[in-house]
Amino acid sequence: MEIQEKVCFEEDLNLDFLETIKELSHCEEIDRCIQCGTCSSSCPDAVYMDFTPRKIMALTKGGFEDTVLKSFTPWLCASCYSCQVRCPAKIKITDVMYAIKRVAIEKNKYPSRFPIPVMYKEMHKILTKNGRSSELWLMLNLYLKTLNPFGLFKMAPLGLKLIKTGRMSIKKESIKNKKQLKKLLKAVKEET
Ligand code: SF4
Ligand code: SF4
Repeated sequence: MEIQEKVCFEEDLNLDFLETIKELSHCEEIDRCIQCGTCSSSCPDAVYMDFTPRKIMALTKGGFEDTVLKSFTPWLCASCYSCQVRCPAKIKITDVMYAIKRVAIEKNKYPSRFPIPVMYKEMHKILTKNGRSSELWLMLNLYLKTLNPFGLFKMAPLGLKLIKTGRMSIKKESIKNKKQLKKLLKAVKEET
């Protein structure tokens, strides 16, 4: 993964971005951030991130929507909660990372061809449509949309073994009552 320095300009700002994040569950305290850096120094993954958690808080508060949504940071967050339990301002940083991922998926703005958001998106598509995951179709979409499709040939022998032993199915798995699933998802969306 290549990390590039980027200069942000005022014209890149979306001043509503902070409010969008604050409206999502447990993120309302984000503007209490005092930029102490405790989160970044507690984060086991900070070394791999393009922006540390402290910088993500500052960029979010500043309205740098594109920079935050296209950052690798939320996708590399391991949800370990170290930052959250140590934050002196009691900001629910892990929940903020989830909120950023959610907005990134909704707005279709995430690091392009990076496998984690693509897998989230594909998994979400399959689950909301069928109510069950189909590993074969998930892997196919993941390889086609992110990695080198030729990598699929390398994985084919393992895939065939899994199909033969009944650990993976060619058929798309599905629940019977899809209408009930749609109602449930609608209710969850209205609630959040
Ligand atoms: S630990 Fe909390 S207050 Fe300190 S920089 Fe991180 S989010 Fe801000
Ligand atoms: S929850 Fe995420 S951002 Fe916070 S310390 Fe753990 S990996 Fe880092």
